Amino acid sequence: MKATRLNGSATLYSVESKRLCCSRSECGYTTTSKKRHELDACPRCHKAWVNALGAGKKAAPTGILERRQYQVDIAEHGGIGRCCCENHQFNLEPKLSRMTAQELSELPDSERELARCSHIVAARKAACEPENLDALLAALTQQEQGAGP
Ligand SMILES: [Zn+2]
Ligand SMILES: [Zn+2]
Repeated sequence: MKATRLNGSATLYSVESKRLCCSRSECGYTTTSKKRHELDACPRCHKAWVNALGAGKKAAPTGILERRQYQVDIAEHGGIGRCCCENHQFNLEPKLSRMTAQELSELPDSERELARCSHIVAARKAACEPENLDALLAALTQQEQGAGP
C-alpha cells in the first residue's frame, strides 16, 4: 500500500488502497484480484449491462475500476491513529471515541494494534522513512516548546 505524507503536515497521510473499487458507488463492486487492473470496466456493471441489453431494457453505464485514497492521521486517538475508511469509521473508531485520553494511553500495545486498520499501519510504516520522520520529530519538538513556559 502506498502512503504519501500530505504537504505541510507531519501526521496526515494519503494512503492508496490495494483494493480496486467500481467508480459507480451504487454498484459497490470491489476486488483485490490480481487479474483486474485500474481503469478496467467493472465486471458487475458490465454483466448488468449485458443482461439489460438482452432483456431489451435501457442499460446503465458501466463503471471503471479505480483505487481509493484514504486519509489517515497517525496522531489521532492518542497515537493510535484515525482513517476515513469504512472499517475504521464504523468498526474501530466508535470504541476509541468513547475512551478518555488517559484510557487511550493505558491501552496495551496489542490492543492499540487491533484498533488500527491496514491504512493506518501503512501510514505508520511510511512515517518511519527518514524524510517523514524528520518532519514528525520537528513537529513534536515544536509542540513541546509551545507547551513549555
Ligand atoms: Zn460496477
Ligand atoms: Zn483505513
